[in-house]
Amino acid sequence: MTFELSERVQTVPPSGIRRFFEIAEERDDVISLGVGEPDFATPWAARDAAITSLEQGKTSYTANRGTRELREAISEYVANRFGLGYGPDEEILVTAGASEAVDLAFRAFVDPGDTVAIAQPSYISYEPGVVFAGGEALPVPTTEADDFRLTVDALEDAGADEADMLVLCYPNNPTGAIMTEEDLEPIAEFAREHNLTVLSDEIYAELTYDGNEHTSIATFEGMRERTIVFNGFSKAHAMTGLRLGYALGPAEAINAMNKIHQYTMLSAPTTAQHAALEALESCENEVREMVDQYDRRRQFVLSRFREIGMDVFEAKGAFYCFPEVPAGFTAAEFAEEVLREQGVAVVPGDVFGEGGDGHLRVSYATGLEDLRQALARIEAFVDDHA
Ligand code: PMP
Repeated sequence: MTFELSERVQTVPPSGIRRFFEIAEERDDVISLGVGEPDFATPWAARDAAITSLEQGKTSYTANRGTRELREAISEYVANRFGLGYGPDEEILVTAGASEAVDLAFRAFVDPGDTVAIAQPSYISYEPGVVFAGGEALPVPTTEADDFRLTVDALEDAGADEADMLVLCYPNNPTGAIMTEEDLEPIAEFAREHNLTVLSDEIYAELTYDGNEHTSIATFEGMRERTIVFNGFSKAHAMTGLRLGYALGPAEAINAMNKIHQYTMLSAPTTAQHAALEALESCENEVREMVDQYDRRRQFVLSRFREIGMDVFEAKGAFYCFPEVPAGFTAAEFAEEVLREQGVAVVPGDVFGEGGDGHLRVSYATGLEDLRQALARIEAFVDDHA
């Protein structure tokens, strides 16, 4: 039987990251710095709450938007941590991972032919999400010279003043870049001036280092009414497999997203919602402890790359660093050869879009001992090819 695949599906290439994992999975001696998920287990109290909810037979659908208790807890949490004011009734939607929230936003706000500007390098799902929704993605490359922060110059050069939407992700996957309040102010001004809807993926908001606190673009004047914020439990609360995230925005926008959500998902996983409520209520210390450990690993990895002689900019957020590949290699060549010769998996930066070429995404969501080993192997590889 031959299926007539939709053009939208055919135009999107398979994920470049997955292809890499498939190579890595063929061997059992590989240290993977390739994956974007915590090596920690979900804090015990959250797991326990999930187990208890199962024991009590709480296995039905919840309200479409998520349980009232969880939406109230999210409302309080984002207000306390990030100064974001969203009410539990109509301004918060609990989703199956931030991934679902991102997809809903594209489907709710993109019409065929609309242009969605995406600051790149960026998380790999935005561009396909735009295409699946019938829109056109407009890459806005950021550069190492700007510490991979988005600038108004980059927006103008890419023609983003003509776009309908702008996607931001800071702290950034894959670069580890953050945007401070001063960095964001001109971007907010640009969005207001050119009437852009902003989708701000803040899933790494808890993971900032060197005394930096996360600032949300939705907190700037005139931005709340044009911004959707995404967050979730996968990263800070180490809950990737539980699949729970949320979107924050004005009622009109969240209601539109909920319209799609109620027909396609009904409600986010119930057991995960019980875990997430407990995570917000009692797991702050565990989150702080994980962030401390990421920070120690970050400092170790950055200093080792510098010792090895590879340029690497000072990543200040998420759990990635983004070194430059040495002369003589493309990013893909380096990644494939270091995997084959030394058994270390890293991801070539160009899979994350424009501005990523010539770099590698190195995740430090891996124990220090493995990081030590992996960096020693990378050093041996670089020495062998010097
Ligand atoms: N946004 C970014 C920037 C991510 O890195 C990821 C996960 N790699 C997601 C969203 C997806 O998160 P979730 O598990 O909540 O769907």
